[in-house]
Amino acid sequence: MKIALVTGGSRGIGRAICEELHKRGYYVLINYVSNDAAAADCLQVIEGQGELLKFDVGNPGAVKEALAQWQKAHPDDYIEVLVNNAGIRKDNLLIWLEPDEWRKVIDTNLNSWYYTTRAVLQPMLVHKYGRVVNVASLSGIKGLPGQTNYSAAKGGLIAATKALAQEVARKNVTVNAVAPGFIKTDMVDGLDEAALKKDIPAARFGNPEEVAAVVGFLASREASYVTGEVISINGGLYT
Ligand code: NAP
Repeated sequence: MKIALVTGGSRGIGRAICEELHKRGYYVLINYVSNDAAAADCLQVIEGQGELLKFDVGNPGAVKEALAQWQKAHPDDYIEVLVNNAGIRKDNLLIWLEPDEWRKVIDTNLNSWYYTTRAVLQPMLVHKYGRVVNVASLSGIKGLPGQTNYSAAKGGLIAATKALAQEVARKNVTVNAVAPGFIKTDMVDGLDEAALKKDIPAARFGNPEEVAAVVGFLASREASYVTGEVISINGGLYT
């Protein structure tokens, strides 16, 4: 049984990634934090070929406990694909950005990467095979006004991707990132799509499936010589 863990797998881009990995023959561990109904629906869509793992990726104790418990219950299995996708945004201009808005975004989008990746990396190294795919953002490459917290988190994620890729390449573990532009999910609710798409050469927002297809490739055996890369998925919205 090939096993993948998708953080924030219950909705949006994460959900499309769960479906893509299911199509590619993976048993998918669907992480989420609060929306039980969406998570249950996602599990149904992948025909029950997975399980729900509810924990807050930004809470180190919760991540450690959930993943240790899962490993204990499945001593002969290991997570060979990790997709660090869970993320939130709390936009504000820096002069008004509250400490909690800074901390929560860094915890959920960046510190989470350290907690989850560190928890599943060792078995990948022991088995000499693994794929880590991190969902970054255009904001982490270009920096976007009103998103200093989010840009810092995603920029940090990109740098961590490049550093870890070099640490583990000899063990056939690849570490890559995708950097989506504007993708139609709950996260972009409230944005002025009509105005924003004028700047996008493709003249539209992307769909979660268009991100999932690239993640599916990076998570595949075929992508064995691709590591430390950041692939933009933004309809030509160059940085
Ligand atoms: P979304 O529709 O808001 O979904 C977010 C997912 O993350 C949900 O499954 C949610 O679980 C989960 N989540 C949130 N906080 C969590 C936590 N603390 N612990 C565990 N799970 C948590 O977001 P999305 O648009 O699909 O975004 C997915 C990723 O893509 C994020 O990292 C985001 O930054 C990145 N991204 C998105 C866009 C875009 O335009 N949409 C662009 C660039 C990058 P619940 O259902 O339980 O809340």
